[in-house]
Amino acid sequence: MKIVAAKKILKANDQIAEENRVRFNASGVYGVNIVGSPGCGKTTLLEALFAQLNGRLAPAVIEGDIAGSIDADRIDALGIPVVQINTEGACHLDASMIAAATDGLDYQAIDLLVIENVGNLVCTAGFDLGEHLRLVVLSVSEGDDKLVKYPAIFQRSHALVITKTDLLPHSNFNIERATSDMKRLAPDAPVFLVSALKGEGIPALADWLAARMKR
Ligand code: MG
Ligand code: ZN
Repeated sequence: MKIVAAKKILKANDQIAEENRVRFNASGVYGVNIVGSPGCGKTTLLEALFAQLNGRLAPAVIEGDIAGSIDADRIDALGIPVVQINTEGACHLDASMIAAATDGLDYQAIDLLVIENVGNLVCTAGFDLGEHLRLVVLSVSEGDDKLVKYPAIFQRSHALVITKTDLLPHSNFNIERATSDMKRLAPDAPVFLVSALKGEGIPALADWLAARMKR
């Protein structure tokens, strides 16, 4: 019987992630890994962001889902190049999946590669995909306690996007609590309040992202 330690798998993943990053850098591609629970509004956020960034950037998207192509179809409808990864049960993307998916993308034609991870706040935290920036998305309807309950994913993200703020009047989500927990877990990470439905907060997030890409 062969026993492989999880630590070794993660080390192998880190190596492939670094190769992905080298490839991205060589083509001037900026990689963003979007993580968050199923239904937190990742794809809707992307639609709003791309509308806001229209003309300023040349994006492409990798969609990670267990099955189907619902999200990829939505991105495709915007005329943005998209590759759908079906993990067939796996609950997160890993760096080798990204390496395989990006073989189908024209790196020279894009400058922003957004990877929408499988909806999951747990093991997505452990897998570097080769991205430059990790955005964690938390919707108002999920509750403000998630930062305390799933600290790793927040700790390892460069910004927190709180979505569905139009629902705040109908929920007991405490923005101050979430913001102060984020400050404790990731002191340098800004917090963005967004309602993609109403278009609120999207310009600020788009400007911040564009500025990060220039750095
Ligand atoms: Mg989605
Ligand atoms: Zn997983």
